[in-house]
Amino acid sequence: MALQVHPDILSLSPYVPGKPIDELQRELGLTRVIKLASNENPLGPSPKALAALSGAQDMLHRYPDGGAYQLRQAIADRWKVAERQVILGNGSDEILGLLAKTFLSPGDEAIMADHTFVIYKMEVTAVHGKPVVVPLINWTHDLESMVRAVTPRTRLLFLCNPNNPTGTIVSAEAVDRLMATVPEDVIIVFDEAYFEYVRNPRFPDAMSYVKQGRNAIVLRTFSKIYGLAGLRIGYGISTVEIIGFLNRVRPPFNANSLAQKAALAALGDDEHVAKSRAINVAGMEQMEQGLRALSVPSIQTETNFLYFDAKRDGRLVFEALLREGIIVRHIDGTMLRVTIGRPDENAAFLQALEKVLHGERKEIARGL
Ligand SMILES: *Cc1c(COP(=O)(O)O)cnc(C)c1O
Repeated sequence: MALQVHPDILSLSPYVPGKPIDELQRELGLTRVIKLASNENPLGPSPKALAALSGAQDMLHRYPDGGAYQLRQAIADRWKVAERQVILGNGSDEILGLLAKTFLSPGDEAIMADHTFVIYKMEVTAVHGKPVVVPLINWTHDLESMVRAVTPRTRLLFLCNPNNPTGTIVSAEAVDRLMATVPEDVIIVFDEAYFEYVRNPRFPDAMSYVKQGRNAIVLRTFSKIYGLAGLRIGYGISTVEIIGFLNRVRPPFNANSLAQKAALAALGDDEHVAKSRAINVAGMEQMEQGLRALSVPSIQTETNFLYFDAKRDGRLVFEALLREGIIVRHIDGTMLRVTIGRPDENAAFLQALEKVLHGERKEIARGL
């Protein structure tokens, strides 16, 4: 008998993750594969996080601390909030899901940009909420149109800042105007996965809205600059009330014990964060220059990735790069996203891209 599946679930397609390195090696028989597809830290985790992990195997038969006392305390201290304002997730992805489950009844609306983190739409649809999609302007969130999209059914507004995949930010002034005009009962989700990479002084202090008691939540992750993507840990900071509701839905052991230990150590390693930021700044210059030289300039970014228009079928460019052993991300149409890696990885990417774009010119010249 046919399975009965809700049309909302049928409308979804499985998330396509960045291709794993060993899969590409197997498929194409390549020895060297460079992955610049998932915005991971090319330096890896903090050595302090790795040290915290060794020895942790002695307690793997025990359940983790479900309240994650030490890590939540450390995060609360860092951001000068109460411990009851902090929630952990199995990646900040999980907290996005908890927000949808907790606050959306079927038919409730959640506002988001058209080119943004794809998980928002997935989580909202999975609980039978309605994603309300507002186009970006100049690759940037259009906050005024987002406010205009609010209806009595609106419960959540997702603001990915900096935005993935474009790398752009919205300014403090723009967010101030948003907060002054949006109805107070709409929860503003500040997804700041790339917060630690931002250099622009106009970036807003989203945490200040939480501290004013506004219905807002700030999401951060240990997957990006902290280099712990494989352990799955992120956090949210919000009002005691919102965190309290999320905790009713949160699975009790969602933050595993290894992740808690490593994240605690990583949070205290400012030196590793500074080093990661510095290598990213240098790589950004290298990549921006290289893309400009190939006449496919990128959009100005505040993150560890670049978004650029390949000016031809992006899927074909993506596939040709795969054959060169370089994994990037095809977003859609002619647009690609590439993570800033180590200098040697960036150079290899630029060289491969030149070959791909140049080789294509030769084929066109030969009338293919
Ligand atoms: C990477 C990313 C996240 C979260 O990743 P987790 O690994 O689940 O913590 C959240 N939002 C955006 C925009 C991201 O790019």
